[in-house]
Amino acid sequence: MELYSTKHQVENVSLKEAIFKGLPADNGLYMPVEIPTLPPAFFDTIETRSFQEIALEVAKTLIGLEIPDNVLTEIVNDAINFDAPVKPVHDNIHVLELFHGPTLAFKDFGARFMSRLMSYFLQKDHQEINILVATSGDTGSAVAQGFLGVPNIHVYILYPKGKVSKIQEQQLTTNGQNITALEIEGTFDDCQRLVKEAFLDTQLNEKLNLTSANSINICRLIPQSFYYFYAYAQLKAKGKPVVVAVPSGNFGNLCGGLIAQKMGLPIRHFVAATNANDIVPAYLASGIFQAKPSVKTFSNAMDVGNPSNFPRMLALHDDAYEQVKANISGKAYTDEETVQTIQKIYQQTGYLLDPHGAVGYLGLKDYLTSLDEEVNGVFLATAHPAKFIDVVETAIENKVEIPELLAQVLNKPKEAIAMAPEFERLKSFLLNK
Ligand SMILES: *Cc1c(COP(=O)(O)O)cnc(C)c1O
Repeated sequence: MELYSTKHQVENVSLKEAIFKGLPADNGLYMPVEIPTLPPAFFDTIETRSFQEIALEVAKTLIGLEIPDNVLTEIVNDAINFDAPVKPVHDNIHVLELFHGPTLAFKDFGARFMSRLMSYFLQKDHQEINILVATSGDTGSAVAQGFLGVPNIHVYILYPKGKVSKIQEQQLTTNGQNITALEIEGTFDDCQRLVKEAFLDTQLNEKLNLTSANSINICRLIPQSFYYFYAYAQLKAKGKPVVVAVPSGNFGNLCGGLIAQKMGLPIRHFVAATNANDIVPAYLASGIFQAKPSVKTFSNAMDVGNPSNFPRMLALHDDAYEQVKANISGKAYTDEETVQTIQKIYQQTGYLLDPHGAVGYLGLKDYLTSLDEEVNGVFLATAHPAKFIDVVETAIENKVEIPELLAQVLNKPKEAIAMAPEFERLKSFLLNK
């Protein structure tokens, strides 16, 4: 698999180089030079295949010969070992549940796939690496779980103090072993900036063999395309065109869908739904991309003021605003609308949304209302409602059952290192480890 940088200032690299570098030296983002399409026969019979079979076919097509088939089969089967069911909500609205992995959020797909791919390459070369991750909540716990106990890898997780939920914080700070949590006295954007600075620092890179596991790493995007195919497979019998709404922050999830579409998956249209951090909806309306400081909301995994995958979104549309606009609609929603939706959908259908899923639902609902044609809509539910229990219980005025996996984590002692949001602090900490 060959990858280029969206800034075009460096040479193309292999998948292995892209995974371990994370970011190209020109500060662009790695993208596949070629995104091959799957043959019509694949789509003709897609509904007869299992999730793992679909994922393997997509992975092989995208990655090509760089990883032997038997290795890739093992990686896919091991990483994608939980379901992603599509369920009806009401009328032509469906939900794709992406929260059946170990941390109950969709980032498990990316983290599990990535850790196994890295482990394969490291094993071959007898190398050690350090992973730096900035998280607004769910990335960190998914990465921690995905890499926990993996030899030759140490993971440092930077999270914004007081800006993740109690459950998320427990998931980040109770792992031990090769996982270190850094509690940054700042925002998620500070965390992301610190990580970016670290990758651009020559001294750190020489000493530590730094790697990223954020959604900027291309290897997180690959498995995030799998479940779009699987959702289509589950909806195919219903016949109508498929519209997908994605609750978005850094837009890595949406990019996974765009890659699937490029590979031939017949998705009619995407909806990018955001909370008050409305950078992309504003771009879609005006053609102007203007990053802003992030604001805190109930759907905090989407509190992103400078969506890092935006250049990829553009690249997937030949850098043409008109193309982006034709393929993606976008809208932003307030916390109030989010809570009302959780309440209303629960009362009317019995289906319990988390705040992120609720934003996705709203995006889909509004878009479908504006359409003349009959379609099947599906929105992505990116986290289990119990992960945002305070918001959800307040909304439905009822108790939410906590899954066993989460209950265990809540009882463990927190271990985190507090740190000011200054790069020199992070640097000296890492150099002295
Ligand atoms: C990370 C996350 C999102 C946003 O995904 P992006 O790929 O950053 O757009 C949405 N919901 C949840 C629960 C998340 O953890």
